[in-house]
Amino acid sequence: MPNDTATPASQHSFQAEVSRLLHLMVHSVYTEKDIFLRELISNASDACDKLRYEAIASPDLMGEDTRLAIRIGIDKEKRTLTVADNGIGMSEAELIDNLGTIARSGTRQFLDRLASDPAGGSGLIGQFGVGFYSAFMVADRIDVASRRAGQDAAFHWSSDGANGFEVRPATAEETVGLGRGTRVTLQLKSDAHAYLDGWDIERIVKTYSDHILFPVEMAGEDGEPRQLNAASALWQRSKSEVTPEVYAEAYRGLAHQGGEPALTIHYKAEGRQSYAVLLFVPGERPFDLFDAERKGRVKLYVRRVYITDEAELLPSYLRFVRGVVDSEDVPLNISREMLQNNPQVAQIRKALTGRTVGELETLAEKDPERFGQIWETFGAVIKEGLYEDFERRDQLLKLARFRSTTGDGWRSLAEYVADMKPGQTDIFYLAGDNLDRLKASPQLEAALARGVEVLLLADPVDSFWTTRGAKFEGKGLKSLTQGEADLSPIPYLDGQAPSEETADASALLAALKAGLGDAVSDVKASKRLVNSPVCLVAPGAGPDLALERLLKHREQGIGLKPVLEVNTGHPLLKAIAGKVANGRGDEVADLAAMLLDQARILDGEPPLEPHKFAERLSRYLTAGLTGA
Ligand code: ADP
Ligand code: MG
Repeated sequence: MPNDTATPASQHSFQAEVSRLLHLMVHSVYTEKDIFLRELISNASDACDKLRYEAIASPDLMGEDTRLAIRIGIDKEKRTLTVADNGIGMSEAELIDNLGTIARSGTRQFLDRLASDPAGGSGLIGQFGVGFYSAFMVADRIDVASRRAGQDAAFHWSSDGANGFEVRPATAEETVGLGRGTRVTLQLKSDAHAYLDGWDIERIVKTYSDHILFPVEMAGEDGEPRQLNAASALWQRSKSEVTPEVYAEAYRGLAHQGGEPALTIHYKAEGRQSYAVLLFVPGERPFDLFDAERKGRVKLYVRRVYITDEAELLPSYLRFVRGVVDSEDVPLNISREMLQNNPQVAQIRKALTGRTVGELETLAEKDPERFGQIWETFGAVIKEGLYEDFERRDQLLKLARFRSTTGDGWRSLAEYVADMKPGQTDIFYLAGDNLDRLKASPQLEAALARGVEVLLLADPVDSFWTTRGAKFEGKGLKSLTQGEADLSPIPYLDGQAPSEETADASALLAALKAGLGDAVSDVKASKRLVNSPVCLVAPGAGPDLALERLLKHREQGIGLKPVLEVNTGHPLLKAIAGKVANGRGDEVADLAAMLLDQARILDGEPPLEPHKFAERLSRYLTAGLTGA
């Protein structure tokens, strides 16, 4: 019941991050303030979605008032703009939590991005879709009256955006015309009176909220409500009716992102099941792309009723794809938990995955440049499918693009295989965490001297999928830091062959090994070095070096010690061999340690004992410079 007695109001302060966000909104110099209306309408639409979903199980919540709609009102005298809905509404506790004390999941990321890019700040507002609080860009006071579906009491929230907020039972006056749902009233700032113009509001609704499923209405001059938006599910319309602008706006609304989609997938499936699909590959990385949960956000609707965005309609490696699937066949009253095991949903999931990968393949063929941008943005995620989706592995391998020693662009495995050298039977790669360092790795030398292309894999996921026995056109993948990779059947390019080494290196190798003790598993004469004196490789059949390093960081390493390979033809090694021959074994241990540290540094690892490394380096430099 509306409450007219003077019930004490409760005062609250905003949660710290909300407070920072509000400060930004209140002092915003962002020019595209119109987006506040999109945010309020989107909240009203969410509220209608929630009611419709809850009413499936509890029809009483809907009652007689079954026509869900969003109403915009303008009061030129009071200089207020209202956005009202007859959706789910908010209880007293929900008003307090949702509008002030719990920050949305993206708020922290938004503020972090802002802190690192203060100049680009205002652009970020449009990009992130900052929600309810964006209304403080145009209002110096906001009142919210709300009645939760199924409850009698209505509550009132108000704030000036600066000094916290107040919540109390709503008065009779405040709830006039408010049955169920929420009414947000903005007291417009003096520089925001343009929003009192009905034509302007209509234009903004058409631009930003045309795709909203519920009618957005406004009272015209004659007092009759007029519908401003199309209010038909965009995904149910035929492609030819939808302009790129409308797709882009739907994308921004559905994906909570700015900019344009990189790829739009819109179709209707008929047959065993009927459903409409509207999916977008975003133009930019969503902020939660690398969250540990790896959750997708594709929304499931059943016959226009929003059910959930947690049905995992795509596998994790496609979690960046946003959009809607609207099924005609999934039972409406299915609980969200049951969806996980529903065979119809499983079938949709499979078909949707195939279609999405297929569309990416088509794009890769037809528009390699645009596909390259998608790969640049999401390739690291798609590659997770190479070890998670065995069924589609070959398809994904074909889709995958790589950096390599051939030029700076993206290479496909098909291109790699077409350019293989006579005698070459494997696809060679080098994995690590930094592309520039990979490019300068000594482990590449033998391949480069033979003109053999090497894939340079710098994403953490690369160390995993490459070990799963993947083959492309019958060619296996071989790591150049693994002991077994052997390039000797492939001839050197003209003039690149190192001079034949005939001297017996066994004494040198034994002395180095004795000097290094158990810091390495072995010291070997290298077949892969041409110009550099040393490098590290993994022993035998174990994980390659990059993988072992990754596992070690996760404390899952198996503690395999690397093999130090030395280039016995290199002048430095020849000089050390001389010391060994002259019985200067005492010095050799020091030199061996320096060789190992040098190889570690080239791999991006610190010297084993940095202080000793520095001490030895100074000693040898001094000796070299003073001739001592
Ligand atoms: P978001 O919509 O991304 O969750 P907002 O800042 O836009 O973030 O809104 C915060 C929360 O406030 C919403 O999640 C919702 O719980 C609540 N809310 C806002 N507007 C309404 C409304 N019209 N009806 C019901 N709840 C609402
Ligand atoms: Mg919102």
